[in-house]
Amino acid sequence: MGWVLGACGQTPISADGEPAAHAERRFEFERVLMGVPFRIVAYGADEEAVARAARAAFARVKELNLVFSDYDPDSELRRLQAEAPRQPKKISADLARVLLLSRRLWEQSGGAFDPSVAPLVALWRNARRSGALPAPEQLAAARARRGFGDLLLDAEQETVAFRRADLAIDLGAIAKGYAADEALAVLRAHGFPRALVDGGGDLSLGDPPPGEQGWRVAVEALDDPERAAAELLLANAAVATSGDAWQHVEIDGVRYAHIVDPETGLGLRERFSVTVVAPTGALADGLATALCVLGPARGRSLVAQHPGVEAWITTLENGAPRTLHCTDKVPGTFSVQ
Ligand code: ADP
Ligand code: MG
Repeated sequence: MGWVLGACGQTPISADGEPAAHAERRFEFERVLMGVPFRIVAYGADEEAVARAARAAFARVKELNLVFSDYDPDSELRRLQAEAPRQPKKISADLARVLLLSRRLWEQSGGAFDPSVAPLVALWRNARRSGALPAPEQLAAARARRGFGDLLLDAEQETVAFRRADLAIDLGAIAKGYAADEALAVLRAHGFPRALVDGGGDLSLGDPPPGEQGWRVAVEALDDPERAAAELLLANAAVATSGDAWQHVEIDGVRYAHIVDPETGLGLRERFSVTVVAPTGALADGLATALCVLGPARGRSLVAQHPGVEAWITTLENGAPRTLHCTDKVPGTFSVQ
């Protein structure tokens, strides 16, 4: 969430001023997947072929939901957790890839990004339903279960082993970005590289619309959703926004976000919004969540570890938004207007 797409792309005009006979047109498709509206925008000349590609892309996301879902007890991740294998167990290539990136982010963020906060996330989800804070002993028990290092991953062999049986993993901070990347790859494979996939606010962008230099993406300002904090022109890149603007619970006048600080076990309490532009959606999504926990001061060094990544970390100070813009930009990958 937290961004809006501007109008982009025009019908190409042929030399004599008439619309080109085989002009690529803009098509849009939407389906609720992974609990959010997944949207595809693709350019193509043949409507049937584009629709077929979009169906295949959605099918891929559905397949990935069966890998990563935290809600479906039959998902690969939930079944793996229930089994908590002591010996290395074969996992899918998708799960291995996302766990590998998660482990890197966990290391690089000093534990701010930690999928093993799953029991804490579950407590905060309940708090949202009940409107009451988790009991101190529940928080303590859930905090004691943190420790992503207890998941032993062999990314090459595509196996995992659990060092303890009560380890729980929640990949909600990264799975949607990965799914958007994979859906875009399907559209490309079907011959439609001029496409965009929006996984409920996690955008993976392919080649630009015909005649354009990129996809126009506006990042919403923290204090006013109608105002754009930044306007981006992006192609072959991904953008993700995380923050408490959309999902939070208010208890006794304090707002707690659905992102948990692994150190305290509490939902984040500051007003913040983070937007990340990265080469892939999985990285953008994961980094955005990590930067929410780290905040501007500590977040800066995480961004510096990723060439080609740009981030905007906005916090509210006495009601006024302050944005830190971190960049280690590779020239030519995108531009800010
Ligand atoms: P959204 O789902 O709104 O796009 P995020 O990508 O930031 O937002 O993901 C938030 C989700 O990440 C939470 O719902 C939870 O499942 C998980 N999560 C919460 N805190 C952390 C954390 N510190 N590290 C990793 N994952 C987290
Ligand atoms: Mg995220």
